Amino acid sequence: MNLPFSPAEVSKRLLSWYGREGRTLPWRENRDPYRIWLSEIMLQQTTVTAVIPYYERFLQRLPTIESLAAASLDDVISLWAGLGYYSRARNLHRAARQIVSEQGSFPDTLEGLLALPGIGRSTAGAILSIAFDTPAPILDGNVRRVLVRLFAWQEDPRSSRAEKQLWQWAEVLTPDEHSHDYAQAIMDLGATVCVPRTPLCESCPLRELCQAFKQDCATLLPVARKQVKLPIRRQVALLVKCSGDYLIRQRPTEGFLGGLWEFPVVEVSPEQNHRQSAEFLLADLGLTGDVCEADAVRHAYSHFKLELTVFSVEIETKTSVAEAGEYTWYSEDAMKRLPLHGAHKKVYSK
Ligand code: SF4
Repeated sequence: MNLPFSPAEVSKRLLSWYGREGRTLPWRENRDPYRIWLSEIMLQQTTVTAVIPYYERFLQRLPTIESLAAASLDDVISLWAGLGYYSRARNLHRAARQIVSEQGSFPDTLEGLLALPGIGRSTAGAILSIAFDTPAPILDGNVRRVLVRLFAWQEDPRSSRAEKQLWQWAEVLTPDEHSHDYAQAIMDLGATVCVPRTPLCESCPLRELCQAFKQDCATLLPVARKQVKLPIRRQVALLVKCSGDYLIRQRPTEGFLGGLWEFPVVEVSPEQNHRQSAEFLLADLGLTGDVCEADAVRHAYSHFKLELTVFSVEIETKTSVAEAGEYTWYSEDAMKRLPLHGAHKKVYSK
């Protein structure tokens, strides 16, 4: 492969920069693969600042892979509540059980790591490099941006052609030695210097090698994704209260927002009368009462926007609770300890 610079020069510059500028982060205190795996999963789609308190709380409660495997999924979801992308927590829990029951120790090969739920090639590469000091390429969001600019890749960086090319570059640049430091160095460079909007090229150790810097196009890369207009979904949520208790249910553990809790809710169309939908929902629950419109809530997910109209109703007796399906009465105190999903947290605070 023809490269505009020597891979050894890239790693030399990165390692020397990392020695001076590398970040101190809680998951860098030791090389325990469990802690590194947990941090890598939490950091997918989430910033370092947001992750740190969750990471520390999670490890306080579940300090080892054995304790994670022994925990209930509800406990794991509770510790994850607020971080989003809950399939990560479910996969973490399943993978811990798989490792403890089938392997006994944390896998230290690419194949072994890829066989676990929730671990893709880049996460496997990060665990191998950082925990086991084994050379393995990484292509997370930060590394991807650095490579796109370093090689001045002018096409859509999400195409399959780009994917193939970026992995090839990631592989060829990964040195045979110092894998632990190199992996963290290139991720840190993307997180602190080669940042999305205004890369700090003047203080970048790769400046003399960087093709985007030479061509004066660093701020234009990676080329922007076409704005996709997200569909809007509308729902009516109903806060049913009786003697200080609320009616809520846990969503099925598999699937979207799996394992999180919510108030009774129904999908509606823009044409539908929302108050009537709330009254029908109450009747479906086997309950009667006067519903009052409380507020409107908007919440954005990665693949749709949600517009939620909130109604509330206070009923006198819980006589029909048996007909309320999977919904159960919870006292306000007990409910506060359950992980409501983001939109319904907003509903409750309203
Ligand atoms: S010189 Fe600028 S664009 Fe190039 S890698 Fe460094 S920060 Fe990124």
